Amino acid sequence: MSRDTGPVCRQCRREGTKLFLKGARCYTKKCSFERRPTPPGMHAVRRRKVGDYGLQLREKQKMRRVYRLGEAQFRRLFEEAERGTDVTGEHLLRLLELRLDNVVYRLGLASSRDQARQFITHGHIAVNGSVLNIPSYSLKPGDAVAIRAEHAELTPFKEARETLKGAGVEWLRLDAAKLTGEVIAAPRRDQMPGDFNEQLVVEFYSR
Ligand code: SF4
Repeated sequence: MSRDTGPVCRQCRREGTKLFLKGARCYTKKCSFERRPTPPGMHAVRRRKVGDYGLQLREKQKMRRVYRLGEAQFRRLFEEAERGTDVTGEHLLRLLELRLDNVVYRLGLASSRDQARQFITHGHIAVNGSVLNIPSYSLKPGDAVAIRAEHAELTPFKEARETLKGAGVEWLRLDAAKLTGEVIAAPRRDQMPGDFNEQLVVEFYSR
């Protein structure tokens, strides 16, 4: 299955929580989930009891949708996490956080992961001084991420420079004036989102 490319607000309603997929709009009254928090579909309001499998499936889908990955890509990342020596669920989250598209978003250089992905594929982003157009590229501590100097005067980046204050997370450093950032260290569990239960994702793939 490819990446979810349908209406993103529907995905929030399906998962029963705000996934913040649309940038600034998610923080306004225009947020669809705020107006209609029921699941999509004709019989959406009817509540059904959710079993273990349902809980595991929903958590896996939530994580996959937040990070904007297709099923096959997400599964491959899970298998990579399994091969590592760290705790699998935590390792999976770390691999997701260290993706280039996520880091561009976390630095505040893009308002959503979808926009970050677009900036990368359109060649606006450089890593360690070279253009890199692979959103899934896995960054390491010490890697530098930047808006290419020759693109810095484009409107979205000029606006970003005026509003950016600092990276939203401790494991990244941002120089807002230069529109550059650096991965200081791989994130620890307490520096990654607390609203995921990664153990449910591990259980889903371990059935
Ligand atoms: Fe989800 Fe609301 Fe953002 Fe739409 S606007 S993606 S419903 S959080």
